[in-house]
Amino acid sequence: MAALAMVMVSCSDDQAATTNDDLQGVDMSNFYLRTDDVETKNAGGCFTMQRLNAQLDKDADLADRMFDIEKKYRQRMLAKKPGNGGGGNGGGDPQPPTDNLGVVTIPVYVHVVYSNNNENISDAQINSQMAVLNDDFRRTNNDANQTPSLFAPVAADTEIQFTLAGVFRHANSRTSWGTNDLVKSTYPPVTPSTHLNIWVCNIGGGILGYAQFPGGNSATDGVVVGPQFFGTTGYVASPFDGGRTTTHEVGHYLNLRHIWGDGRCNRDDFVSDTPTSDRPNYGCPSYPTTHCRSTDMTMNYMDYTDDACMNMFTAGQKSRMRGVLVPGGARENLVN
Ligand SMILES: [Zn+2]
Repeated sequence: MAALAMVMVSCSDDQAATTNDDLQGVDMSNFYLRTDDVETKNAGGCFTMQRLNAQLDKDADLADRMFDIEKKYRQRMLAKKPGNGGGGNGGGDPQPPTDNLGVVTIPVYVHVVYSNNNENISDAQINSQMAVLNDDFRRTNNDANQTPSLFAPVAADTEIQFTLAGVFRHANSRTSWGTNDLVKSTYPPVTPSTHLNIWVCNIGGGILGYAQFPGGNSATDGVVVGPQFFGTTGYVASPFDGGRTTTHEVGHYLNLRHIWGDGRCNRDDFVSDTPTSDRPNYGCPSYPTTHCRSTDMTMNYMDYTDDACMNMFTAGQKSRMRGVLVPGGARENLVN
């Protein structure tokens, strides 16, 4: 019953988004926005896709904006492909785009929203998170050598890094902020077109974090992470004490989907160098773990595995993230 409802919702939405669009040779047939909410009911969950469902309900133009961002990226990748015309796979590209941006540095504002001293995390904890972001996105993480040889050839330095531009601290008696962007309306983002805003507050419900994809409303743009899952020192809780929740959520913020595609084997994450899967992985899976007749990339930051068992983005994910940072991209103003 739940699966049927999901299919009906996603079909009607996708058709609305594709009507009257000039695709210019781009295959958008596998693009989707809506997903069911089964997977985040487990521990280790991220609420990004559910938040997107709710935003699609409220914002009639959001689906079109996200469709256009995707179309623009695919058109650009199609144009970059040498000779073969792209093959119409409709997904990402294993090779990084030849953009001229070089190393990109994104400025970050952190909003610490706390109801007790533990949640008022230290500057040292914030700095530890910034270090993880930079190590993970630049592939200077000290566990990069744990990437299996099967996947090492596609593991990538995204050439995206982050710098702390400011910290805002807000005392509030509320002990749990939920997943409905309440923290953002209470403490609005600061210059969200040019800065990544991160709210660190207790979310509740076993949710580690959630992000907003490119194309969303600027009033709610940014990433929310629980204080116990932010950074590597201070008020952090195993097994999500490695700062990788924020790495994962910033991946969404830069347009990455979950690595299993939030659906069955035929649903993709729009990245061609990540294996197909039909589920998230949890804990620290033994290698190899196989679903959909291929070895899952359980150590990818966009899976749900424990922090200690993640260590890579791929070249295709790098391409997809940088696709929103290039001139004309949905997050081009982050680059300065
Ligand atoms: Zn996620």
